[in-house]
Amino acid sequence: MQVTVGTSILELVEGDITQQDTDAIVNAANEQLRVGGGVDGAINRAGGPQIQEEARKIGYCPTGKAVITTGGNLKARYVIHAVGPVYRGGHQGEAELLASAYRESLKLASARGISTIAFPSLSTGVYGYPVKEAAKIALKTVKDYLKDHPEIKLVRFVLFGTPTYQTFAEALAQV
Ligand code: ADP
Repeated sequence: MQVTVGTSILELVEGDITQQDTDAIVNAANEQLRVGGGVDGAINRAGGPQIQEEARKIGYCPTGKAVITTGGNLKARYVIHAVGPVYRGGHQGEAELLASAYRESLKLASARGISTIAFPSLSTGVYGYPVKEAAKIALKTVKDYLKDHPEIKLVRFVLFGTPTYQTFAEALAQV
């Protein structure tokens, strides 16, 4: 499913983010930038040790921000490591931190001349963010960014499994 925002495309697909051929893929990282499970483990396995070596040199990334490494053996040239919030009930600034993680990733892409980028659903695995709420925030943040930033030509959400894809598809109809 896809929509256009200005001259850019916002796309939802069900699949595996490690296989994407966008300029950059986004990783759901932790503040320590250490290899974890979930999408992080999958990206590091597929991309090889170079990604973790570069991440280790950067060392740290606060929640709501993002850092960039090369893509190692991936098709994508870059991995943007975004740190979404751990969900603690929704009254600890989670919504703004989640929006910020998406926005900061997009800003990094613009600054590096990256015009196509793939996101997973940040924070909705181990970090426990309810997918329905997270989907609305993710899609609204990306749409708002694309309105002012035509240099980003494609944002693709790569959703893992049909339930997550369906929830994002319903949210896209609403935002
Ligand atoms: P977080 O710690 O930010 O919650 P997770 O990696 O645990 O990050 O989960 C984030 C989302 O990524 C979840 O929806 C999970 O199902 C999904 N995911 C896991 N593996 C992949 C993959 N290979 N491609 C895309 N999404 C994935």
